[in-house]
Amino acid sequence: MKNKKIKIIAVMSVLLMLLISGCNKSNDTESSLSTDESSVSSSSSVKQPAVKAFAKAHSTEVIDGVTYVDGILIVNKTYSLPKSYNYGLTDETLKAFNKMKNAAAKDNIYLEIASGFRSYEEQEALYNEYKSENGQKKADTYSARPGHSEHQSGMAIDVNGADFSMVGQKDMKWLGKHCAEYGFIIRFPKNKESITGYSYEPWHIRYVGKKTAKEIKKQGICLEEYLGVTSKYNPQ
Ligand SMILES: [Zn+2]
Repeated sequence: MKNKKIKIIAVMSVLLMLLISGCNKSNDTESSLSTDESSVSSSSSVKQPAVKAFAKAHSTEVIDGVTYVDGILIVNKTYSLPKSYNYGLTDETLKAFNKMKNAAAKDNIYLEIASGFRSYEEQEALYNEYKSENGQKKADTYSARPGHSEHQSGMAIDVNGADFSMVGQKDMKWLGKHCAEYGFIIRFPKNKESITGYSYEPWHIRYVGKKTAKEIKKQGICLEEYLGVTSKYNPQ
């Protein structure tokens, strides 16, 4: 008991001294700023290599015109698929969707595939329609140019429609909350428009597998950020 008291007194007096010396020093804060800054910048330049070592290195492979980053197929404004890539929805995607659909039904949420696989030609017709309706600039914010649609990969699904009035609906909320448990990500999240190149689409999900989906959700990032890639059309 006695020792403890002495210790407390000792700690308190040290704190007091620090406070007093802190007060005294406050007068020359400005003059000490320059030295503080230089010490910060020099220490951060020393630390930089260590920070870089933590940044994930990505491996990119192109197989038959299809780009895989860390083994994950990527299709966006930067990366396209060949016209001949025409395989329908993948088995994994369909299985995962059906599993999710059954789980959702137990919560009285009904999920349907409004749009799954889309061929190059189908996307071309769709995009051209939007382009003639709204102009290219606007169309590019919500529709992919042919060869650049994730729907052509067979791993993307529009759930229950593709309409901006669906934002905030309870089925979309359920999807956002649970889709990662089945291996899907909300591919074009809110506040990531400048990175994905697309408006927020709560209905468009992309199959990436459970582990990746959960990690992306946990980090609150989009696929581009996860893979360290851009989504921008080549200027023509
Ligand atoms: Zn879609």
